[in-house]
Amino acid sequence: MQYNVEEFKKLAISMGFSNAGQLNMDALVFMPEVRQMCNSDSCTSYNKNWMCPPAIGTLEQSAVKVREYSFGMIVQTTAFMQDEFDYETIRDTQKKHKNNFFELVTLLRNKYSSVLPMGAGTCTICNKCTYPDKPCRFPDKAIGSMESYGLWVSKVCEMSSIPYYYGKNTLTFTSCFLLK
Ligand code: SF4
Repeated sequence: MQYNVEEFKKLAISMGFSNAGQLNMDALVFMPEVRQMCNSDSCTSYNKNWMCPPAIGTLEQSAVKVREYSFGMIVQTTAFMQDEFDYETIRDTQKKHKNNFFELVTLLRNKYSSVLPMGAGTCTICNKCTYPDKPCRFPDKAIGSMESYGLWVSKVCEMSSIPYYYGKNTLTFTSCFLLK
């Protein structure tokens, strides 16, 4: 299927993202090094969420899953921080990015039969994830992060000719979606 990159860009910007561009599908390389970072639990979500490792699946399963898709877009939200301790801006920007991404994915799912979203940060649809005691409450809505699938986000951006770093005191959240 042919997709119009410019239309997707326009849509993303109109929804509040600061940048968007086509994802290079060859950049979807699932790396043990990223999984190792998850395992070290630096973001405190490892083994605590259905959309994080180990529950989200192996790197091999990630690779098999994306083989079904032929097209992808990256969307980003960049903010300027007063300094590196500007936690308010960090929190607000993450929230804005996640909300906008959820809205974008909902819109895409209404239009296309199959969408694979990969967000920024762990799935936060529920205040407390049901993992591991009960099944995911919203398996059709839950969104794993690019990292949780095993992607090195800065490399994906670089290979897609999209900036990952926008300069001193900037903060950027990056997500992507794939279509068949
Ligand atoms: S939708 Fe809820 S239960 Fe499912 S992964 Fe997200 S937070 Fe966990």
